[in-house]
Amino acid sequence: MAITYTDLIATIRRMTREVSLDEVKRRLDARETYTLLDVREKEEFRAGYIPGALSIPRGFLEIQIESRIPDKSTRIIAYCAGGTRSALAAKTLAELGYTNVETANPGFVRWKDLGYPTETPPQLNDAQRDRYSRHLLLPEVGEAGQAKLLASKVLLIGAGGLGSPSSLYLAAAGVGTLGLVDADVVDASNLQRQVLHATSRVGAPKVESAEKVLKDLNPDVRVIGYKERLDSSNVERLFGDYDVIVDGTDNFPTRYLVNDASVWLGKPVVHGSIFRFDGQITTFMPDKAAAKIGIDAGPCYRCLYPEPPPPHLAPSCQEAGVLGILPGVIGLLQATEAIKLLLRTGEPLIGRLLTYDSLKMRFRELRLRRAPDCPVCGPEPSITSYIDYEGFCALPS
Ligand SMILES: [Zn+2]
Repeated sequence: MAITYTDLIATIRRMTREVSLDEVKRRLDARETYTLLDVREKEEFRAGYIPGALSIPRGFLEIQIESRIPDKSTRIIAYCAGGTRSALAAKTLAELGYTNVETANPGFVRWKDLGYPTETPPQLNDAQRDRYSRHLLLPEVGEAGQAKLLASKVLLIGAGGLGSPSSLYLAAAGVGTLGLVDADVVDASNLQRQVLHATSRVGAPKVESAEKVLKDLNPDVRVIGYKERLDSSNVERLFGDYDVIVDGTDNFPTRYLVNDASVWLGKPVVHGSIFRFDGQITTFMPDKAAAKIGIDAGPCYRCLYPEPPPPHLAPSCQEAGVLGILPGVIGLLQATEAIKLLLRTGEPLIGRLLTYDSLKMRFRELRLRRAPDCPVCGPEPSITSYIDYEGFCALPS
């Protein structure tokens, strides 16, 4: 004989471990490690939730839970508005093999009445919900992730070959503030690869040309152009409060400055470079930056190349060629790394160098190690102030 809804709920409640709201509050205050799982609908979650809660609406639970909480021994407290949906959720979780599930009873409505702390997610407006809808559909991004991107700041060194594709996609993705450092003007010979710029803007400063395009692409984005060359006098001011530095620089003096500043100021750097048909990319995560987000640090540029080559061994001053499409590939990989760092998702290229050979169409990965005697990030640094190296020729960018 079929059982009634009341019987069903009563049976499930007997089978699930319930925890009082006072106990949930106590564990929250004691910062015990629990995953609070909010199984209410998105609209309810948006109006407020218990701080730190993960939102998976009841209807999506089976579909999303294993990707959001892969470890089935995770200690979970499920809650809803009144305790019914969370009890049903607990039954499902048990069936899926989750072994440490409790449900809060009653639920969020009472939690709020008790005056216990709540959080509300940063709100996107209707236009933003529409614009970023494909991000909102990804649980790894969602509304909270999109709001994080909108509040993020990325500084791009160079608005050239690498900076063009990265800034276009970072703007499209809704990274709220993009700083661009470039002192050059658009030249006709740039247009073979620097897709931010256009024939009609030859002769215009690159930062102005870039700003026009990026703002038109996404008015949510604040574009700040710095029409200056990075040097020891301005590097700290320019790095300012940016979250991630995307280095598309084309010369050694800048590369070393970017590195030293990133170590001292604690900024992650997504480094890309290109030459003829080959490109490479890695993410430098210095100690201070890693500590801020609770991950392991990796090597810095000077761990690999402690000093620039002497000028007579530096790359030839003749202009090197570059396949026009190549910076598109590398610049987009840089943008991908930057987005991952901002969202704190995935595995960044820390301690890994990804190389790309466009002729063979082959990617390879090399492990990069931290140098124990690195002159900048080692325990006994020999370099402690900025150095303006001179006498190097530009590589194409
Ligand atoms: Zn180092």
